[in-house]
Order: sequence, then structure tokens, then C-alpha cells
Amino acid sequence: MSLHLYVDSGRWRSHLRRFMEPAGTTIVPVTKGNGYGFGNATLAAEAAALGAGTLAVGTYEEISDVQKEFPGDLLVLSPWRPWHEFAVDDERVVHTISRVTDLHTLIERGGGRPRVVIEVLTSMRRHGIDPAHLTAVADALQHVSFEGFALHLPLVGDHLAEADRLSRQAFDTVPASPRTLWVSHLSAAAAGSLAKHHDAEIRLRVGSALWLGERGALRARGTVLDVHPVRRGDRVGYRQRRARRPGSLVIVSGGTAHGVALEAPSPVTGTRQRAVAVAKGGLEAAGQVLSPFQFAGRQRWFAEPPHMQCSMIWLPDDITPPAPGDELDLDVRFTTTTFDHISWA
Ligand SMILES: *Cc1c(COP(=O)(O)O)cnc(C)c1O
Repeated sequence: MSLHLYVDSGRWRSHLRRFMEPAGTTIVPVTKGNGYGFGNATLAAEAAALGAGTLAVGTYEEISDVQKEFPGDLLVLSPWRPWHEFAVDDERVVHTISRVTDLHTLIERGGGRPRVVIEVLTSMRRHGIDPAHLTAVADALQHVSFEGFALHLPLVGDHLAEADRLSRQAFDTVPASPRTLWVSHLSAAAAGSLAKHHDAEIRLRVGSALWLGERGALRARGTVLDVHPVRRGDRVGYRQRRARRPGSLVIVSGGTAHGVALEAPSPVTGTRQRAVAVAKGGLEAAGQVLSPFQFAGRQRWFAEPPHMQCSMIWLPDDITPPAPGDELDLDVRFTTTTFDHISWA
């Protein structure tokens, strides 16, 4: 009796298979963090079943989550740094190098020929070697197994033009490079056109659009643990707030420990968005917060902010409450939710 993820596995897996086959592009599945709600080991096994040659993980620490389930190559997306103690010449691991000095340090660590991709700095300005400085790595690359350039593009703007310009610059500066580009956040069509322009193999690193791209196949539900009738004026919860109307209090599994009702900071840019945020803040200030749980066709209010393992939901008295053991649908943000149980149907 817990926070449950139900997967329509036929529908989900047929989406995965379709997604893996765009013409002229190799899809590199990405799993990291909470494994997009499924867990890294589960997605590693799915990636293996899909026949992926390479699986990307976020960090060196995540390699141990996936190495048993996935037999192929493992690309680490976080750039290698000298303080990482992971063996540099593990044959299955492809390192991302984003600073000139790190390439030299990696080579000095010795032992075989470490596999590396060189990340080129994009307009995102997160990690990467400035394309003007790529001449500084060209010679050193003969000491490693060089597997291509990586570009991590922002989510807005003219991706293709930027990817095109940076790829040209990279291939011109390091002509001996394998013609492989590891890119993120490009459409399959844009990736195909990049492949053609540069006569290159495109490896498209994809997480969300792959694992979460068929939302209708995924359903999150919390189990009702308790239901209490409440009279007007009764005190409830840690905060002992008084009920303003009669109704019922529904205690349902799914709380902050699962990541329920935790929102990632989101950019507020437009005037309208700002007005919405102010309105929401106003309701929150008045002590009312809409929960992600639904019942009888509507999203329901929290009686108070969620607790660690469960939430307290308010229902007005004109609604017949659910019974313990019933389940309520809820909206979750998959990249921050940990489910107690996954059911495959
Ligand atoms: C996480 C990550 C991805 C996958 O991101 P999604 O938005 O989930 O597809 C791709 N590339 C890099 C470099 C990443 O860190």
C-alpha cells in the first residue's frame, strides 16, 4: 500500500522501440538521478533489451547502478575531473573531457588508452572546451581512444545552426577526428540534417523524450490509508488549523519522501506567468495549496503541506470519500519522484 507507478508495458515498450529507430541517427538512451522514476537499473535493462550499444549515465557514481544490467558501453555525461577515482582505462567507459588540462591529466594517469569524447562549449556555457582552443587538444588525442565531439545544446534558440557551426569548427581543427557527434536536445530531423552536412554519425543522447515520451502509458497512484470525517471547527494536522467546513480528511500515501508536491524551481519569464505565480502565492499565503491528487474528477486541496510518507487531503462533505485501500491518481514530476512500487501490466 504505497506510491505506485503503473506501466502499460506493451504501449510503453512499443513507443521505446519506435523512438530507437529514427533514420540515420543512433539513439543513446540516458539514465541518471532517480532513473526518471523507474530507477537506473530498470532503465539499464530496458536499454539492453532495446539493443542500444551505449547507455549514458549522469555521474561516475551511477555506473555501479547500471553495469550489471547493461552489457554495452557506458558514457558518463558529467565531465571527468582529476579527483574522480574511477579507473580511467575501463574498457566499457567513455569519459567526457571538457577542459584541456583534464585531457593531459587523464593521459598521465596512464594505463591503456582511455576512451574519450571531447565536449565543445556551446551557448549553454555549462561545460566544454572553447572551440577556439581545440588546437590545444589535437596532438594529445593520439594518446587516447578518441570517440568524437559532444555538444550539449540549450533548449531554446536555433539549435541546428549552432550545432552546425561548432561541428564544422571542431572537425576543421581536428581533421583526424572520427566523424562522430554526440548531441543532446536536437530533434531527430535536425540530427539527420547535421549528419548529412558533416558526413558524420550522430549519437543523440535522450532521456525524457524516450522514457517519458508516452505519458499515457504511465500512471501514478497513491493508496488511501485512512479517512476521517471532520466537522466545521475541528482542528487537524501538525498545524492544528480549524476546518472551515464539514467534510473528510483523506490520508493517502505519497509525501515529500517520495518527491510528491516538490516542484523544481522554474523560470518565470512572462508577465502572464508572473501573474499566475502571484495568484498561486496568494492562495498559498491564505493557507490553501492545491495537491497533485485527484478524486471524483478534480484535483483536491491539501489539508496541510505534505508529510514525509503521506499527504492529508481535504474533501468537502458533498463528496463521498474513497475508502482505505482505494487508490487516487496523482500528477508527478517523474525526475523527482521515487515510487515504492512499479507494476507492469
Ligand atoms: C541529462 C542529459 C541529457 C538527457 O536529457 P533529457 O532532457 O532527459 O533528454 C542529455 N545530454 C546531457 C549532457 C545530459 O546531461
